[in-house]
Amino acid sequence: MKKIVILGAGTAGTMMLNKFASVLDRREWHISIVDLEETHYYQPGFLFIPFGIYSRSDVVKPKRDFFPPGTDVIVSRIERIEPGKNRVLLASGAVIPYDYLIVATGTKIYPQQTEGLQGELWHKQIFDFYTIEGACALAEFFKRWRGGKLVVNITEMPIKCPVAPLEFAFLADWYFSERGIRDKVDIHFVTPLPGAFTKPRASTILGNILDKKNIRLTTEFSIGRVDNEAASIISWDENAVPFDVLVTIPTNMGDEAIARSKMGDELNFIPTDKATLRAVGHENIFVIGDATDLPSSKAGSVAHFESDILLENFISVSEGRQPSAQFDGHANCFIESGFGKGILIDFNYDTEPLPGKFPLPGIGPFSLLEETKTNHYGKVMFRWMYWNFLLKGLELPVESHMSMAGKRA
Ligand SMILES: Cc1cc2nc3c(=O)[nH]c(=O)nc-3n(C[C@H](O)[C@H](O)[C@H](O)COP(=O)(O)OP(=O)(O)OC[C@H]3O[C@@H](n4cnc5c(N)ncnc54)[C@H](O)[C@@H]3O)c2cc1C
Repeated sequence: MKKIVILGAGTAGTMMLNKFASVLDRREWHISIVDLEETHYYQPGFLFIPFGIYSRSDVVKPKRDFFPPGTDVIVSRIERIEPGKNRVLLASGAVIPYDYLIVATGTKIYPQQTEGLQGELWHKQIFDFYTIEGACALAEFFKRWRGGKLVVNITEMPIKCPVAPLEFAFLADWYFSERGIRDKVDIHFVTPLPGAFTKPRASTILGNILDKKNIRLTTEFSIGRVDNEAASIISWDENAVPFDVLVTIPTNMGDEAIARSKMGDELNFIPTDKATLRAVGHENIFVIGDATDLPSSKAGSVAHFESDILLENFISVSEGRQPSAQFDGHANCFIESGFGKGILIDFNYDTEPLPGKFPLPGIGPFSLLEETKTNHYGKVMFRWMYWNFLLKGLELPVESHMSMAGKRA
């Protein structure tokens, strides 16, 4: 039997596993999946925890609920990949040989990369919401907080779900308004980018929304350190932004196992062919999701679009043909903007988010680059779609390749 090994059973790995299981002849293919965690976290739900909209139990399910029968499930930390020997070494001591390897180890936060970030104010006045622990600690803090300076800071790009920090600021505006203390909370969005977002047109629109909500924006702020005594973030060029509470999006990096395998760049992201999703220099290794170094967004929706391309290219390669399916960088993200509204953006490597209707031209029901209630319902529905369709590798009513239908240039 030929062996496929999938590293990482998060969004991308689980989705890929289900796709393989539905098309490959199980008498010919042995499929293993490796992860150190037995719990699956719905990470988009972390955004809502600090504001009491979701709690821990709303975002967790056992990973095994999503594995198809007959899967060889290995619970262990991955120590390293030895691509020259076509094998993976696990922390348990086991050695797993493969014919084809799918790397889906994602990205996580590394607060230790910024001096002082995990100092004495960590989880007292400094929180993240990119981990379940951070999001839950912040929820407890907000319950008792009576107001002051709230700074939301992106340490450096790339980060997963690049719109999540903006959504956090929008929801903070809504949450403190609901609590009747908005006039006592100064919300300040501090980013290393030249604008509110990575893409120019969306950046202007999202910047205007920040303005409308009275959220201050500081751009091109490259954090060098945190001064715990003064409760300030300090940039490399010595500008200080004081805070009473700092919500940080720390440096995002790929897993250390990638560095140990000598397969990553300086942030442990794996050089990946942006069209075929094959690891550069490795004919029998594909990379999917946040683990890649692709210039697309790091998002669950992107992993979903990639999974169709990867499956097609995997079949070609396993049958001795060249991989011909091309990923176009398609991303589709709902941006929660507070007060029961949301914005939708749909874009790819070459086309920035444009206004219009989605998915049906002229009809929608979703509106691109516009705040609507229907878009908010789309965001709410996403969790149900995630558990019931996305993870199971089922088809969604959105094409893998971005369509210009319904978009206004
Ligand atoms: C706050 C927040 C909000 C978000 N909102 C959205 C949104 O609205 N829409 C959207 O599309 N996306 C959103 N995302 C992004 C989305 O969750 C990720 O892009 C997606 O989960 C990526 O999937 P992945 O499989 O690449 O990585 P993950 O889902 O993170 O999975 C990686 C897996 O690899 C395992 N692993 C890693 N290293 C090892 C090792 N050494 N040994 C064993 N196992 C290992 C991990 O345990 C994990 O299970 C959000 C993320 C966050 C944090």
